[in-house]
Amino acid sequence: MPDTRLIRTFIEQRHTSLAERARRFAMGEIAQRPEPVEDTDARREARTLLGLLGEGNWLQPIFDLDLRGCCLMREALAEASPLADAVFGLQGLGTTPILLAGTQAQKEQWLGPIAQGKVMTAFAMTEPEAGSDVAGIATTARREGSSYVLDGTKTLISNAGIADVYVVFASTDRAKGAKGISCFLVPGDALGLRFVGPQVMSAAHPLGEIAFESCRVPSDALLGTEGKGYGLGLATLDQLRPTVAAAACGMAARALAESLAHVKQRKQFGRSLAEFQLVQQKLARMTTDLTAARLLTYRAAYEKDTGQERITSEAAMAKSFATEMAQRAVDDAVQLIGGRGVLADHPVDRLYRAVRALRIYEGTTEIQQLIIAGEMLKEAKG
Ligand SMILES: Cc1cc2nc3c(=O)[nH]c(=O)nc-3n(C[C@H](O)[C@H](O)[C@H](O)COP(=O)(O)OP(=O)(O)OC[C@H]3O[C@@H](n4cnc5c(N)ncnc54)[C@H](O)[C@@H]3O)c2cc1C
Repeated sequence: MPDTRLIRTFIEQRHTSLAERARRFAMGEIAQRPEPVEDTDARREARTLLGLLGEGNWLQPIFDLDLRGCCLMREALAEASPLADAVFGLQGLGTTPILLAGTQAQKEQWLGPIAQGKVMTAFAMTEPEAGSDVAGIATTARREGSSYVLDGTKTLISNAGIADVYVVFASTDRAKGAKGISCFLVPGDALGLRFVGPQVMSAAHPLGEIAFESCRVPSDALLGTEGKGYGLGLATLDQLRPTVAAAACGMAARALAESLAHVKQRKQFGRSLAEFQLVQQKLARMTTDLTAARLLTYRAAYEKDTGQERITSEAAMAKSFATEMAQRAVDDAVQLIGGRGVLADHPVDRLYRAVRALRIYEGTTEIQQLIIAGEMLKEAKG
């Protein structure tokens, strides 16, 4: 179970109880579900998992804007199933812009069914020519009377093809660059929104490409103010990056638990692996790094929950450190477990395939480092 004693300065009693319940749910009801092998199975399983999360009211921390609660949920889910964690994380990513900037009518229409897990969301920002450089997006939204008409392509979009509603970033004025980007809520069945096809990963994760071809939406599909979409996107990412860090911590914790169980029982050269100092060194590094990552993660979430408006630097530190740490921890786990660790049905192989994307999505490690240095230099100048 995520050790809540370590992070006790950052959480409240209700969080300790949430962590215990989340762990029981994740290990009792989610961990045993087999990993889907085919992409079509992964898509079906993602919808089933969303239903389970909704039925059990596990998505509630997203709606309470309880970042520490979201982190605890992702840590518990990621330990049990990277796909269940992704489902939770993506529902957060698609919902937060509505919580931050939605009108009363938009909130009334969407939030209830999203919380119940009946409506799946997606966050469509990345494009073939605009990845890290989000300001360069080429999808346009042209005003025509009481509608906007969207044209463009979004790539590497989680939940593409299975989402019921997409939060879409498009330019309403290309000449203004980032200041011309706006955000829209586009229903999955909107005329002119086409699922181009899946982008299949080695891990179970519903990823794909979508295209907008003269896709007309009413003007009240605009989320927030015209021209403020870029800021809304960045604020959403800032807020949710600690939850990606938490997911990384969950995966690393599972890698450590699997390693520990293995080295205690596996004997070579007449002794258990746990007795060898080279093995102990790996275990020591894994647990120390995981401890540091959890402290950074819950520090960032605590600052946000207790009133700090932006946690740009704290979130970037947590995300970059925790995801890099998790990659090393999972790799160490495979090494400690040996040949069995690369078999497709072993939990550490599943982690090995899943953990890699965390260093890329919601801003790569390099982009996080640029953010951290940028904030530091801004402060030094001030
Ligand atoms: C599993 C997965 C799920 C995803 N889900 C979504 C989603 O739901 N919605 C969505 O909108 N997007 C999603 N993405 C896309 C993701 O956000 C992008 O992949 C990411 O932002 C990086 O963009 P890119 O892949 O185009 O890489 P690029 O931006 O081309 O970067 C390639 C490399 O260059 C480096 N680089 C770029 N600029 C600089 C610089 N200035 N200095 C130093 N290095 C630099 C990067 O760090 C990286 O190492 C997902 C991606 C993955 C892998």
